[in-house]
Order: sequence, then structure tokens, then C-alpha cells
Amino acid sequence: MNIEFLIIIFLALLIFVAVFGIARASDKIILNMKLKKIDKINDDFIATVSHQLRTPLTVIGGYAEILKGEVNLSKEGRENILKINNAVSHLNDLVNDILDVSKIETGKKIFNLEKINPVPIVHNVISNLERLAKSKSLKLEVEVFSTADINVDPTHLKQALKNVIKNGIKYTKTGSVIVKINTEGSDLLISVSDTGKGIAEKDIEKVFDKFYKDDGKDSSGAGLGLWIAKQIVIKMRGKINVKSKENSGSTFVFRFPIAL
Ligand code: ADP
Repeated sequence: MNIEFLIIIFLALLIFVAVFGIARASDKIILNMKLKKIDKINDDFIATVSHQLRTPLTVIGGYAEILKGEVNLSKEGRENILKINNAVSHLNDLVNDILDVSKIETGKKIFNLEKINPVPIVHNVISNLERLAKSKSLKLEVEVFSTADINVDPTHLKQALKNVIKNGIKYTKTGSVIVKINTEGSDLLISVSDTGKGIAEKDIEKVFDKFYKDDGKDSSGAGLGLWIAKQIVIKMRGKINVKSKENSGSTFVFRFPIAL
């Protein structure tokens, strides 16, 4: 076999590989463009549906408030209005969660990190949830052992804390939900301990998964609260984990580096 023939074979092979490579790369580019288009349609759909749901919800909630003011309302009537209010607030939470998931996934949730003391934020979340805890006769308290600053977005920290503390109240029948703020090495820890139903060992890995929820009757949500909380914490360079024992309670721990 002469050398020219080998060179021709080699060049033919080279051209074949190059053409094949270009074809595959352009296939990938086209696929990526299609996926981006589907993502955009998906986002637009979620945003439109969520906004469309919000308007009638506001109207229903508003009329329920007006009805509440009626003087001649029977006890049953008042209870029915309360049921409307609860359903509206549940749907509002769901719409907000769905919008949030979409924002987090598309990177549209903006994080403005600032050096802050988280203690007032914890107190604020607690005071917003006091009524809920009282309605179940649960003790809801904060114990402050550190006032160190951390670099977080205050609004989003509040949202993540609310999701976790509200769960503590939701999944606890008797006892308490205690929030502790302390330090460990160079980290600030905010732990939320409840005396509730706890989480089975086989499920503990799943609780931060999107749409994970147990099938118990206490779980009225869509299984998004802890996923959202975890994504928020990660975006603020923190960590969140949980330790739990079935039928004894759970402790969720937020961990952030102390700001220098
Ligand atoms: P949900 O809306 O269902 O509460 P979350 O994402 O907030 O969604 O929680 C996911 C699941 O994790 C819940 O359905 C529940 O099974 C479990 N879970 C969360 N917090 C607690 C807790 N404090 N005690 C026991 N189980 C919990």
C-alpha cells in the first residue's frame, strides 16, 4: 500500500469525523434552543396562571372580610367565613410557593446580601406565628445565646425561617417549638426544635426534595416549603439540615458563616 493512498484514507477519516462532530454539535445547539424555548413557555405559563389566580383570590378574601363585619351574622355564618378565609390563605400560599419555585429555578429570585443581626428577624417571624401556636396551645419561644451578624438577604431569611417554624407548629400536637440562636466555631446557628411527630429515618433524606410530603392528614401543603427554604439558604451561602426521631420531634438547623 503506497503512502499517498494512506494519506487519502487518513484525510477522508478526518473529514468524516469533523463532519460528524459538526452535525452532533449543531444537533446539541438546536436541542438546547428548543429546551430554552420550552422553559420560557413553562415560566410564562406559571407566571400567567399564578397572577390570574391571585386576582379572584383577592376578591374572595375581600368579600369574606366585608361579610365578617355584618352584625347579624349567625355563629355558623361566622364559622363558614373563617373557612373561606383559611381556604383563601392556603391558596395564596400555594400560588406564592409555585411562583417562587419558578423564580428560583430560572435564577430570577434576587438576593441582596447584607450584614445583619438575625435576632430581630427571628422575633418578627415568631410574633407573626404566635396566634397559630396559641390556637394549638403550643409554647413558641426564642432563646438568644449570640447576637453575631451574618451576611444574608433579610426578606429571604425571614421566608426560610417562616417555612421551617410554621412546619414545627403544623406537625406538633402538644408541647413546644423553640428557636435557639447560638454560635459554633465560626458559624451562627439558628435551630428550630419541636416536640412533634418527627420524621421516620427512611424519609429524612427526602424532606428537602421538591414536592415531597408525607401522606398524613397534617400535611396540607404541596411539599414545597422545605425545598424553597433549602434553596434560599444555599443561595445565601448557608446550610440547613435536620435531625429527627419519630414520635419525639425534630430539630432543623440553619448554619451561616459569621460576618466579619
Ligand atoms: P408541606 O407543605 O407538606 O409541609 P414541606 O416541604 O414544608 O411541605 O415539608 C415536607 C414534608 O416534610 C412534610 O410533608 C412533612 O412530612 C415533613 N416535615 C417537615 N417539617 C416537619 C416537622 N417539623 N416535623 C415532622 N415532619 C416534618
